[in-house]
Amino acid sequence: MSIIYNFNPGPAILPQSVLLKVKKNLLNWNNSNFSILEVSHRSKIFIEKTMQIEKTFRNILNIPENYNILFCHGGARGQFSAIPLNFIKKFIKPDYINSGYWSLSAAEEAKKYCRPNIINVRKLTKNKKICIQSTKYWKISSKNTYLHYCPNETIEGIEIFEEPEFYNKIVVGDFSSTILSRKIDIKKYGIIYACAQKNIGPAGITVVIIRNNLLFNLNNKIPSILNYNLLMQSKSMLNTPSIFSWYVSGLVFKWIKNLGGLNIIEKINKKKAKILYKYLDSTDFYNNYISSPNQSRMNVTFHLQEKNLTNMFLEQSEKYGLFGLKGHSILGGIRASIYNAMPIQGVKSLIKFMKFFEKKFG
Ligand SMILES: *Cc1c(COP(=O)(O)O)cnc(C)c1O
Repeated sequence: MSIIYNFNPGPAILPQSVLLKVKKNLLNWNNSNFSILEVSHRSKIFIEKTMQIEKTFRNILNIPENYNILFCHGGARGQFSAIPLNFIKKFIKPDYINSGYWSLSAAEEAKKYCRPNIINVRKLTKNKKICIQSTKYWKISSKNTYLHYCPNETIEGIEIFEEPEFYNKIVVGDFSSTILSRKIDIKKYGIIYACAQKNIGPAGITVVIIRNNLLFNLNNKIPSILNYNLLMQSKSMLNTPSIFSWYVSGLVFKWIKNLGGLNIIEKINKKKAKILYKYLDSTDFYNNYISSPNQSRMNVTFHLQEKNLTNMFLEQSEKYGLFGLKGHSILGGIRASIYNAMPIQGVKSLIKFMKFFEKKFG
């Protein structure tokens, strides 16, 4: 069988070694005589496992002791509601940075519960590329409230590498598609959240990293399953968690740790993105519309100059073993999601195919 590369945006590629481990242990997990799919979340063996998983996660992301880590239900979209709902007593008019589809979706959801102050930070450069204003120029309110932003817009392929530093603000970040791809300074944030299905593991679990002092005086009249206090007190086991997703996520964390942690991961990710953008810059046959300081390392988007060749590109790329390259329906074009688990060889294969396709049709 020839090698297949999965460029899907999420659920996305998982490390091959993790999948093999899951396969090997599927019928008898940890000598429990049960499959991981059958293990009780109240069993000692699983509770111990979750503690180890949390420890590894804390270690690779360098999460300080004064932060809690919650493993939640409901995906990133669940957090779009959970954040305004938990804070509803304190913050009526939070700031929401609009950098693209997902950050704007979070603001739209928040409108059900509060009055978000939506701040557009997208600009066009002279040569018509999308760029994001430096955080210094963000027109944030002077109020003491939270500020929500999304450091990686998965659909457009826009990444904000600058970490917002605001006194008087609780910075909340939707890190769904960039968490674990590079080092971040957790101290700068009040809440970081991320669904699993991009860089963490299988869909079904959502990680929330929250500074302890934010857990006081929250609104309690909200669905229990979104209530940060209850989730913290129950150690993320208020109800039955997604055992399998939690377990596989733990294997992914270990995989990162064994590779050498986020220093190494970041280096590899930089290299993968660099060769792909460099190639895109070198040709007029494919166009990327994001200015270079905001080009996402995780989701590389481009259009074919000749738009009616897009479907042909997608068909032929699959014959080449390259799957999941179709851009999001609101943008069209091509999107190559090159998360942590995508080997550099996958990116090289994509470039090779793109060159071949250009030669044939350019
Ligand atoms: C994928 C994604 C979401 C949506 O995640 P769900 O788990 O499907 O709700 C939200 N925000 C960002 C940045 C994403 O990449």
